[in-house]
Amino acid sequence: MKKGKMIILSGPSGSGKSTISNYLLSKIPELKFSTSCTTRNSRNKEIHGKDYYFVSIETFIYKIKKLQFAEWEEVYPRIFYGTLKSEIHKNWKDNKHILFDIDVKGGLNLKKQYPHNSLSIFIMVESIEKLRERLILRNSESKEKIDLRLNKAKEEQRYANKFDFVLLNIDLLEAKKEAMNLVSKFIFNE
Ligand code: 5GP
Repeated sequence: MKKGKMIILSGPSGSGKSTISNYLLSKIPELKFSTSCTTRNSRNKEIHGKDYYFVSIETFIYKIKKLQFAEWEEVYPRIFYGTLKSEIHKNWKDNKHILFDIDVKGGLNLKKQYPHNSLSIFIMVESIEKLRERLILRNSESKEKIDLRLNKAKEEQRYANKFDFVLLNIDLLEAKKEAMNLVSKFIFNE
């Protein structure tokens, strides 16, 4: 099978990762989103099979045992996320490049497995306080869950320098433009 390229977007929850990811997907038709498996509940408008494959913990553990994941992490206590090997293969078979929105450890793990055909980008905002503001505005989680995400963010920031690029999202329009430049150069010019 011909391997396509992989764009790995990581960074704290609230950093603008999903917005930037959706922007890239809307602009580059050759790029396909990698739908991950998760054990968390679906949020308001999320669709099973598109945003995530929502599965039970039992099913997730079964898939781990059957070696169905290219990578997986317990991103929050008892909440698992993972990239299915089948998802990667399906997209490459369709001649697509793949965009991953995954956590820092998962992102670095994939980069290690596919060092040559992947581009890893860490998205950051200027401060943890800014992240808190964004997560509160998003209004999809309790205060307890927001605190959990902020603690995770502090830990994740420490890994930023292990990525190919660090993209500072202060102005969303600029960040989208920079992401677009990086990704199209990697996909089309190399
Ligand atoms: P959310 O619950 O906000 O959709 O995602 C929480 C975190 O899990 C985000 O940092 C997201 O990038 C990460 N994530 C989503 N899918 C995967 C995956 O397949 N593997 C890993 N390691 N992390 C993932």
